[in-house]
Amino acid sequence: MGIKFNGVSFFYEKKRKNDIVPAAISDINLSFESTNEFITIVGHTGSGKSTLIQHINGLILPTKGEVLVNGVSLSPKNKKLKLKPIRKQIGFVFQFPEYQLFEETVLKDIIYGPKNFGYSQEEATERAKKVAKELNIYNILNKSPFNISGGQMRKVAIAGILAYNPDILLLDEPTRGLDPKGAKEIMDFFKKLQVEEHKTIIMITHDMDLVYEYSTRVIVMNKGKVAFDGSKKELFSGKYEEFHLTKPTILKTIDYINSHTNYNISYDNYNLADLLKSLKDGDFNE
Ligand code: ADP
Ligand code: MG
Repeated sequence: MGIKFNGVSFFYEKKRKNDIVPAAISDINLSFESTNEFITIVGHTGSGKSTLIQHINGLILPTKGEVLVNGVSLSPKNKKLKLKPIRKQIGFVFQFPEYQLFEETVLKDIIYGPKNFGYSQEEATERAKKVAKELNIYNILNKSPFNISGGQMRKVAIAGILAYNPDILLLDEPTRGLDPKGAKEIMDFFKKLQVEEHKTIIMITHDMDLVYEYSTRVIVMNKGKVAFDGSKKELFSGKYEEFHLTKPTILKTIDYINSHTNYNISYDNYNLADLLKSLKDGDFNE
């Protein structure tokens, strides 16, 4: 089970009859587990990241090939395809999701999602409150979603998706435009969903620090193709330069320490807290 891309290509519609439109993604073969992966997708603007993830919950269907979601074929050839059950399993947090808030209160906004997917008013309210607590927005449930901070709005939009409890969460640059504190809070929350609830998170980001700290697997898109699919350590030990990606800050710090001392600190330290612990423990192969 899980998600499988079998030879998927996608072409956006031509604007004029004689336009030549290149494939937005071409001949993609990929598999994702439906539990316990934290995948980051990186690559330049226009490389096909958003197009790729929109295929996972059927927002767009392949021009060629098929996407299988727990055995169900997402393809225009599948005439019996029902997207609602797919979308309940796979939540999609768009870029700037707060633009889609519309209800009178935060609570009403959050329960809209679960009600739409068949939860009763009572169950939806219960789910909404649980998620609001976890995201630290419980105290604003009765406020208007237009009278809260930008970071809170982002959390409300995310809560509306999590409240119907999808197994897989697709995130298109979820920290974009947030201050560092707000970004860290939601990232730690997503990590918790993966580690404690074994959800699969698939996140597009331009931030290599987030890639290095949080992901269990990295996919690099380049010109509509998968250019790399593997571990973050492998990527940042060499290949990242080929793709013009920047090195995560933590690795630049480790490089600096290693080149100015006789320490040999490993790239298995994923954030400053890890690094500090290694230094305190004397874990640096003097
Ligand atoms: P990324 O998310 O990596 O920036 P996209 O998936 O948005 O890349 O875009 C991949 C390619 O498809 C680009 O060439 C882009 O211009 C094109 N594209 C994206 N969205 C549309 C659209 N709605 N209509 C036409 N072309 C599009
Ligand atoms: Mg995009």
